Amino acid sequence: MYDIAVIGKGLMGSAALRHLTVDFPNLRVCIIGPDEPENRKTHAGVFASHYDQGRITRVLDPSPMWGQMAQESIAQYPAIERASGIVFHHRAGCLRATDLPERIAELDACAEQFAPPHKRLDAEGCRAAHPYLRFSDDFVAWDEVGEAGYINPRQLVAAQLTAAQANGAAVIREIVAAIECKQDAVTIHTRQPPSVPPTGQGEAIRARKILLCAGGYSNTLLERKLDLRTKGHTILLAEVAPDEVARLRTMPSIISTFAHADVSSLYMLPPVPYPDGKTYIKLGLSGNTDELPAPEPFFDARHNDSELLDWFHTDGREDIAEAMKAALHRMIPGLQAVSYHSVPCLITKTAHGNPYIDSLDAGRIYVMTGGNGYAAKSSDAIGRLGAQFCATGEWPSEFAREDFHAVYSP
Ligand SMILES: Cc1cc2nc3c(=O)[nH]c(=O)nc-3n(C[C@H](O)[C@H](O)[C@H](O)COP(=O)(O)OP(=O)(O)OC[C@H]3O[C@@H](n4cnc5c(N)ncnc54)[C@H](O)[C@@H]3O)c2cc1C
Repeated sequence: MYDIAVIGKGLMGSAALRHLTVDFPNLRVCIIGPDEPENRKTHAGVFASHYDQGRITRVLDPSPMWGQMAQESIAQYPAIERASGIVFHHRAGCLRATDLPERIAELDACAEQFAPPHKRLDAEGCRAAHPYLRFSDDFVAWDEVGEAGYINPRQLVAAQLTAAQANGAAVIREIVAAIECKQDAVTIHTRQPPSVPPTGQGEAIRARKILLCAGGYSNTLLERKLDLRTKGHTILLAEVAPDEVARLRTMPSIISTFAHADVSSLYMLPPVPYPDGKTYIKLGLSGNTDELPAPEPFFDARHNDSELLDWFHTDGREDIAEAMKAALHRMIPGLQAVSYHSVPCLITKTAHGNPYIDSLDAGRIYVMTGGNGYAAKSSDAIGRLGAQFCATGEWPSEFAREDFHAVYSP
């Protein structure tokens, strides 16, 4: 019997596992979750929100909570890289640009509170620092340097798992089919991922407690559903050739919020190499896409695996990809892209905008989920909170517990 079984081998779960092995070395811990599928279009199991090569990392954020989580996590990156021997952090810088007065005030407050190395630029300063980008005259930007840039989320998960395994954690590469909570323990029924030849009905694993970190799939394993707004999200990948990569070699990650009819907020990564041997600039819309002709699908609290499967078998939303393509060319005039394609992903939002980190069932079932589109860079700090709370039943004091309480679906 395990002391704690973490369910979901993603960014939050792998971080929690490593913290459990570091802070509670006497506990017997495991993580249960499948590996990334080889073929997205034919895969019939569960998916994740981190199957990608880049997630923006930076401290500056309109929310002080996310700023603090990011700062704490970023401080741990070198130790995780050392402990695992896996490099996942790329210091490309991050430019936040906006022409919205309320956003300017929030970012100024965050810059003052956390003081990451940065320059505050007007539109002329932006054009001088990043001549390949176009800014209108009303823009203000925070050019964050130092540790800002992007992380490779696949490599971060691999690094957390490698470090945790070196400390004695077990990794069980199966899908959890059901959780049965009894008085003395939790029984976890698993099935094997479809890519693995069947060897029977899957195992039953017992643990004193579980920490559920199944991202957009968390509700599929809970009888009483959480208020999780799981939403389809389309990303655009613009392939760039080596000479364009060389021209854009100083390009930072970019988050831009503006008053534009189609696109109110977008994020963009600099050219990043992908496993297919090509290099892509990746874009996503981070603001409200509901004003677009048809919004991306929304999965209510009672969704099942097969509804999510249908979404992951598409190429995302074509009209949203077109809107992003236009926005990309507005921001980088003269960009020479070789090809474009779009990919589906999933964002899991909570009722209050912070992750849910809570105890659900007489102290046996703990939950840590709801990245709200921001949790990759901050997953290590979120994982530490979840690990400490699950292991001790005591809330770590530096954050207010009520800010992370789980909200049930009405
Ligand atoms: C396109 C996109 C861009 C993003 N960009 C950024 C960014 O730039 N910066 C940033 O900080 N954040 C970003 N995010 C958000 C970030 O990726 C997520 O917040 C983060 O992945 C959430 O981590 P998680 O562990 O909750 O979920 P995941 O990483 O999705 O992990 C959940 C895990 O649960 C597993 N699972 C599901 N069901 C089961 C089951 N039944 N049994 C066992 N395991 C199961 C899955 O296999 C998966 O591995 C982005 C998200 C998307 C979709």
